[in-house]
Amino acid sequence: MERVLEGRRALITGSTSGIGLGIAVLFARAGAQVMLNGFGKPEDIAAAKAAIAAENGGHEPPYSAADLSKPQGVRDMCAEAVQAMDGVDILINNAGIQFTAAVEDFPDDKWDAIIAINMSASFHATKALLPGMKQRGWGRIVNIASAHGLVASPQKVAYVTAKHGVVGMTKVVALEAARTGVTANAICPGFVRTPLAEAQVGPLAKEHGVSEEEALTDYLLAKQPTKKWVEVTEVARMALYLCGPDSGSVNGAALSIDGGWMAQ
Ligand code: NAD
Repeated sequence: MERVLEGRRALITGSTSGIGLGIAVLFARAGAQVMLNGFGKPEDIAAAKAAIAAENGGHEPPYSAADLSKPQGVRDMCAEAVQAMDGVDILINNAGIQFTAAVEDFPDDKWDAIIAINMSASFHATKALLPGMKQRGWGRIVNIASAHGLVASPQKVAYVTAKHGVVGMTKVVALEAARTGVTANAICPGFVRTPLAEAQVGPLAKEHGVSEEEALTDYLLAKQPTKKWVEVTEVARMALYLCGPDSGSVNGAALSIDGGWMAQ
């Protein structure tokens, strides 16, 4: 594959699994230096590092175990990334969690955690890394939002609030940076095939007394017209486009990748 990110240095949050790991691997393949972040079992983190090393002449990437629910954790991770890679040109704000309950039953601590990790961490990381990007006259900020950054679903008050916030934040950063060579964009995926998302199919089938196939198309992907998962590689390729050489005029956008969900 063309090494369109040769010489670029990318910090990808929540990159020990799922979408973040997919982006990290593709970016390494495209020539970027990447720094990983996220939680996981030691063997999963080792596997994520090995996946990057395999793209990168055997060199293990730097990794931060920072807890992004804490602003100081976000700032420390950014400082570490600047030191480890001698600067950060690309910031992918991807780490995120989910919890579902009706508004009146929603636990306060879950609200605080989702707002902190899914929204405020993107602000703190952007605040820390934008000045260096502006100074160098080139930078890319990609926020992994969600279809739930554009529309709502019941039971997801904190997630929908945080993701709508991220889409708004993206627009402000895009406007402020517009003349500096830095762009900011959001990606809004529908349901993406990750181990955690796939694990919801079995319980849904049991709950509704239907086959796993019906549970997927009629319940989990009820709002996704293609009735197919979005694949991690599709999201990673969209992120690569936004960080590559042909997207300098894409700025402040919220790009849907959701099988037609937003067309309804
Ligand atoms: P995932 O659970 O596989 O990955 C989440 C990552 O975030 C992991 O690396 C995890 O360790 C990290 N993380 C969680 N809390 C953290 C914390 N406090 N500090 C640091 N890291 C933390 O999930 P995913 O499905 O790959 O989701 C990635 C992003 O994509 C999230 O922002 C999610 O909201 C968004 N998204 C996912 C889907 C989907 O269907 N999977 C759809 C739309 C948007």
